Amino acid sequence: MRVINAFEWTHVPHGDDNAMVRGCIVRCPCGSAESVRANTLQGTGGNDDEREFEIISRKLVKGGWRIGRKRRDHRCPKCVALLDAANSKVMPMSQTTPPPAAPIKIAADNIRQITREDRRIIFEKLNEVYVSDKVGYAGNWTDDKLAQDLGVPRAWVRLIRDENFGDEAGNEDLRKMLIEARTAVERVRAIECEMRSLLSLADKLEKGIAEATRVMK
Ligand SMILES: [Zn+2]
Repeated sequence: MRVINAFEWTHVPHGDDNAMVRGCIVRCPCGSAESVRANTLQGTGGNDDEREFEIISRKLVKGGWRIGRKRRDHRCPKCVALLDAANSKVMPMSQTTPPPAAPIKIAADNIRQITREDRRIIFEKLNEVYVSDKVGYAGNWTDDKLAQDLGVPRAWVRLIRDENFGDEAGNEDLRKMLIEARTAVERVRAIECEMRSLLSLADKLEKGIAEATRVMK
């Protein structure tokens, strides 16, 4: 579909003498409409439609309209205000603004120097969630989780932990899981042994039954 068909073409009155000139009417689904005079573009190359669409759109947007690529996508200034108020996500293509780029966190982290206050906060949190250099972190805490929790670079957490506490090591949860896994493996091994002796017993019994059946015939 040609983009220029987004508008309804007609002749609109223009100037003091109200001469009819080429123009278009743009309509909002609410019933509002506005007519715009179009400048005749000549000899601007192959993409006149797109250019004319852009020029007219710009005029209307200045007046508070929101212009879409299709006829039904235009919204009058009143509706735009209502939509904005309702924080609606219904926005025609031409009006969507790209989301703001994520701040470059790593670069910022590198620039920011660790302050005494940062050290104190990280130290206090470590004091709370780090059990000992033998056990490491309590629960499911890690350097990463702590850094995220406090909103500080992970390198700072590593620094303070190394200086004052001990290795990141595993954490309590991981340790418990390992113990459980080991116990489970041991139990399977024990059953395996018992299973083997039961199987050989079953073998013997089967042979005995076969023998007995033959004799009793
Ligand atoms: Zn409207």
